[in-house]
Amino acid sequence: MGVHHGVILGLLRDYGPLSRAELARRTQLSATALTNLMAQLLEDGCVEEVKEDARVGVGRPPVALGLRDASYRALGVHIGGGRGQIVLCNLRTEALASATFCYEVGATTPDEVVTLIANQLENLLAMSGSAHDRIIGVGFAVPGPVDKAQRRALFCAAAGWKDVSFAQMLEEQINLPVVLEHNVSAMAQRDSRYGLGKNSDALLYLYLRSGVGAGLVVEGKPFRPGGIGTVELGHIPVANGPGCACGAEGCLEALVGEAALRRALGIKDGEILDDPLFVLVDREPQVRADVLRYLEHALVSAINMLSVDFVVLGGHLAAAPQSFIAVLETRVKQRVLAHARQRLRIVGSTLDSNLGGLGAASVALDHFFYSGAFK
Ligand SMILES: [Zn+2]
Repeated sequence: MGVHHGVILGLLRDYGPLSRAELARRTQLSATALTNLMAQLLEDGCVEEVKEDARVGVGRPPVALGLRDASYRALGVHIGGGRGQIVLCNLRTEALASATFCYEVGATTPDEVVTLIANQLENLLAMSGSAHDRIIGVGFAVPGPVDKAQRRALFCAAAGWKDVSFAQMLEEQINLPVVLEHNVSAMAQRDSRYGLGKNSDALLYLYLRSGVGAGLVVEGKPFRPGGIGTVELGHIPVANGPGCACGAEGCLEALVGEAALRRALGIKDGEILDDPLFVLVDREPQVRADVLRYLEHALVSAINMLSVDFVVLGGHLAAAPQSFIAVLETRVKQRVLAHARQRLRIVGSTLDSNLGGLGAASVALDHFFYSGAFK
């Protein structure tokens, strides 16, 4: 497919179904060019004709063109600290099947994790009856920055890997195209495209698990400062100490990351929790006050600096009580600049266990399908 196919498919995804006249107006393509492109897309099966409105007029009802969500599928791989997830989804990033895997931080090599992922991908495709020729490609989301061409992971702090050609390594094992992305940036991209922040101008996704990561999407596109594009909100200093894994002191991650919160709550190493971590945080007044203060400090800095209008809180934060999130939103709004205050919303992410994999799959869809780079 070419770039014009991608433009048409993107319009049908965002605004469809659309009439041929509407597509011509929006794409500025000639009638002949549009007719040829539509014929190819209809023959391929990713677009279908639908009745625009059966009630209008008499005789032949007007026909519009719509995207066939089930015509193709995408795969998403999400790697976090010590664990990962693979999700198969349709063209609107709705999950069809998923699998999880674990690896040992500091011991599992990149080669081993890629082989593990390749085997699981093939199992998932076989179990769901998905043919390879209907898979657009694979989005591969890693916990750290990726190079500009989205082929190499530069540094995965959570796993201990440095400068790994993950895209090429996985392609060699599964014969499908692969695109790499920072894991939280991938989740931010999906939310700005399909989820809670669909109409936002600048969406910040704050993801708190063992580390504290962030992703920023501006006007639908991932923000890539310096070409590698991670927004390291976890390493904004918010206090004097303690020491952080990055070597600095007082970083947000060192104060509200999973390990810090477990310590503050007096939870022993390896102890299984009966309640979500942030429900426990919410019950301890001093820990709650401290965590709110640190999060408020980091978010105010990010919002003022980056003109963010929509914040999604993910990972452990997604399970925080609504009252906790409402207090955080109120306090942040009191401190950001007036123009940002009006539009700002802070929400907890949906509690879908597939979100990481779906974020990665949405990167594959944008990269291969809607850009016209597929086939
Ligand atoms: Zn740090």
